[in-house]
Amino acid sequence: MSGKVYLVGAGPGDPGLITWKGLEALRSCDVVIYDRLVARELLDEAPTQATRIHAGKTPGAASVSQEEINALLIGHARGGVTVVRLKGGDPFVFGRGGEEAIALAGAGIPFEVVPGVTSATAVPAYAGIPVTHRGTASSFAVVTGHRADGGQRWNELARGVDTLVLMMGVASLRSTTEELIAAGRNPQEPAAVVEWGTTERQRTLMGDLASIADIAAAAGIESPATTIIGNVALLRNEIAWAPVAGSSAHLAAAPRTARRTP
Ligand code: SAH
Repeated sequence: MSGKVYLVGAGPGDPGLITWKGLEALRSCDVVIYDRLVARELLDEAPTQATRIHAGKTPGAASVSQEEINALLIGHARGGVTVVRLKGGDPFVFGRGGEEAIALAGAGIPFEVVPGVTSATAVPAYAGIPVTHRGTASSFAVVTGHRADGGQRWNELARGVDTLVLMMGVASLRSTTEELIAAGRNPQEPAAVVEWGTTERQRTLMGDLASIADIAAAAGIESPATTIIGNVALLRNEIAWAPVAGSSAHLAAAPRTARRTP
C-alpha cells in the first residue's frame, strides 16, 4: 500500500511559527524533503532515524528540479512510508505546492496539505507593519517581482490596491518600483524592505517607493527579502517590537510572549 505525503508549511523562519498540525506530521514522518529556507531547528524535530533530503533551490546554483522533487515524493510514498514535504512559509503561496499536489494526485498518492504562516504577512508583522490597518489600508496584494508567465499587471496593482507585498524580487526591485511609479503609484509612498524576517538575522530598512531599491542595494540586501509598499510601512515607527531571544528554541515550551522595543 502506498504511503502518504504531507505538504507542510514550515513558516517564514522562526521555527515557532510552524503549525501544531505541521509539527505533528514532522514528528511522525519517515522521510522529510525540505527547502532551503526551512529552519534547521525544525529538521531536528523529525525522528532521529528519518531520512532528511535537501531539495532547495539556492539562487544561482544548480538545484534539484521540480520534476525531480515530484519524483522523489512519489517514489518514497510508493515505498509505503510517510513523507513530509517541508516548505518555507505556506506551501501554496509562491511555493509550487500546487504543482506537487497535482503530481501526487496524478500518481494516485494520498496527500494532505498543511497550510503555513506565510512570510507575506508574518515578515511585515515581525517588522512592526500590519498589512491592513483601519483608516490606512483596506486591501493588500502579494506580488512576485519576477513572473514566469509574462508581465505583471502593474497598472491594476498601482491603482487598485492599498498595500503591496513584493516577494522574490531582490534583483528586480529597481525595475519593479520603476514600473509601479510609471503606472501611477506615488513615488513618495512609504516603503520598507525586510531581509531574513522572523529570524535572528532580521534587518529592516525604510524608504519610499522611489528610494527603496537604492537603499536596499546600498545595504547589500539579499534573498530572502520582502518589500512592503504603502502607508502602513510608517506604522513601524509605533509598532516595532522584538521577539524574546531564543523564545522559539524549545518548540514544546509554554506559549511565547513578545516584548516591545523601547
Ligand atoms: N511559500 C513562501 C514563499 C516562497 S517564495 C511563503 O509563503 O512565505 C520565497 C520568497 O519569500 C523570498 O524570495 C522572499 O521574498 C520571501 N521570504 C521567505 N522567507 C522570508 C524571510 N525570512 N524574510 C523575508 N522574506 C522572506
